[in-house]
Amino acid sequence: MSKTVICPGSFDPVTCGHLDIIKRASGMFDKVVVAVLVNSSKTPTFTTEERIDLLQQATAGLRNVEIVSFEGLLAGYCKNSGIDTIVKGLRAVSDFEYEFQMAIANKKLNPELETIFLTADADSTFLSSSMVREIGSMGGDIRNFVPACVHERIAAKLRNR
Ligand code: ADP
Repeated sequence: MSKTVICPGSFDPVTCGHLDIIKRASGMFDKVVVAVLVNSSKTPTFTTEERIDLLQQATAGLRNVEIVSFEGLLAGYCKNSGIDTIVKGLRAVSDFEYEFQMAIANKKLNPELETIFLTADADSTFLSSSMVREIGSMGGDIRNFVPACVHERIAAKLRNR
């Protein structure tokens, strides 16, 4: 049976840390659905369309990766799409408590839903979208933090904010 997993997140914008988790999941499972969270109560720096587009460009070489967006509960989206496994990246102990709570809450909402954690690559444990936004908006060099093929687009948008 073919196995589809979901990698959810804000991806505002995609970082090398996200891409590392997506690539590793793509090597482990038949299909990876990367799901961009649309949170109507928050205004992201990159629009949903931009975040999807950047992810599409960054994952263009991975044939089993699909980019989608979703609103509302992840557990509900997974149920409606027939997906029973979430893959997330864990950077540090600081991620653990929140992710642990989310994994349990998701299982309560949808008992078939399992969450699998991949440890972040040693070079990306410090990396977050908010750090990229902060450095980029002050004109700092984010070349090592975001996928090379989307670096220019992300840097230009952050510079001009
Ligand atoms: P961020 O915290 O950077 O805003 P997201 O909400 O977009 O991240 O995160 C989506 C998923 O990617 C989460 O599972 C998160 O733990 C994981 N992730 C984020 N940054 C990294 C990283 N540098 N290395 C590994 N996984 C990461």
